[in-house]
Amino acid sequence: MKAKKADKPKDLIKLGSPRWDDTFRMIKGFDAERVNGAKVMVVGAGALGNEVLKNLALLNVGNILIVDFDTIEYSNLSRSILYRESDSKKSKKKCEVAAERVREINPNVKVQAINGDIMLDVGLGVFRRMDAVIGCLDNRLARLFINRNCFKLGKPWVDGAIENLAGQMNVYRPGINCYECQLTNIEWSIIQYRLGCPDVAQRNATQGRIPTTPIAASIIGAMQSAEALKIIFDNQKYSLAGHQLDFDVMLSFFSISTIDYVSKPDCISHASMPDIKASPMSSGSTVAETLAWLAEHLNEPEPEIYLHYDVVLSITSVLSEKTHDILLPKPHFSEAIKQRYQASEEDELRISGTGTINKKFPHQDEPLSKLGVPPLHILTIGTAKGISFVELNGDENFLHFQ
Ligand SMILES: [Zn+2]
Repeated sequence: MKAKKADKPKDLIKLGSPRWDDTFRMIKGFDAERVNGAKVMVVGAGALGNEVLKNLALLNVGNILIVDFDTIEYSNLSRSILYRESDSKKSKKKCEVAAERVREINPNVKVQAINGDIMLDVGLGVFRRMDAVIGCLDNRLARLFINRNCFKLGKPWVDGAIENLAGQMNVYRPGINCYECQLTNIEWSIIQYRLGCPDVAQRNATQGRIPTTPIAASIIGAMQSAEALKIIFDNQKYSLAGHQLDFDVMLSFFSISTIDYVSKPDCISHASMPDIKASPMSSGSTVAETLAWLAEHLNEPEPEIYLHYDVVLSITSVLSEKTHDILLPKPHFSEAIKQRYQASEEDELRISGTGTINKKFPHQDEPLSKLGVPPLHILTIGTAKGISFVELNGDENFLHFQ
């Protein structure tokens, strides 16, 4: 007698439609559903980023956010599995090509690319929505920034670094260790120097190109991907947080060592953001609209928005004594802008601005985005009762993995 369709055992039906991650599902402890539902941000799409993104795509990580502002150069190709010579000829954006190639590798994975700077263009609310953050960077300033953002939200992050045929990996988790606390005086002075650079490009430029190899990138990239998986699985028992992984291929050296952690009492990374309030405001809301909403909903007549940088309001040429009123987030100040306001090369510029936005701020009708506030950001608000945190949930559609 012929079995009716409804009588077929479920397993037989499954066999007819293989899934990308069927093999992983056979591994004990590999929660394929969790991996497929995860949101992972990869900061930097260079040599390390390429390896990490390739791994995440193969592992079927469901939603991948790629942040990078660089273009593909011919010199990148020797360490970048996702890029082709034709991409470098067209100077294509790393984040966009990487997103395209990840989708090509595994069409089940959804990707979003942010062509921007992690220090300026990615809101705290974006960090908050991530299950794991992976830093594939070549500079300490950006690492410091990721550490501060992740720790504010109580999130661990995975850091990788490569040089020549060697590499290092750390997982930073609040309460266990801290990138900022562990910075040496020399590392701090390099960061201060970079922070002092008035030009965005200069600040981000790598001082002297560091030679890297696909060997170092693939080993560290694999270890970073593994640690990201442990974060997704919430497997803290076997996490390498608090340890440092080092290897050097030429010296046949591979080690995992425990790092003594001394928490610094004045470390900025330890400032947490408890009780984040939702708001219908967005980065497109004007200053006036936002202040009015905050006044009403925080029950505070004169709320103030505290930015972590200054907004430049005027530039004065010392030579010509001319003052120009402008509106520019100071981190966006560039060499080109400097030259525009200089009377001559020797001219000095006096810049005035504020990091506190209240009802005295002269540009009440401008949107927050003009002040450098990225979509889905979490604003720090000063009131008479203390500090509040308010998220720009009006930007909810900003994250759209596809
Ligand atoms: Zn710290």
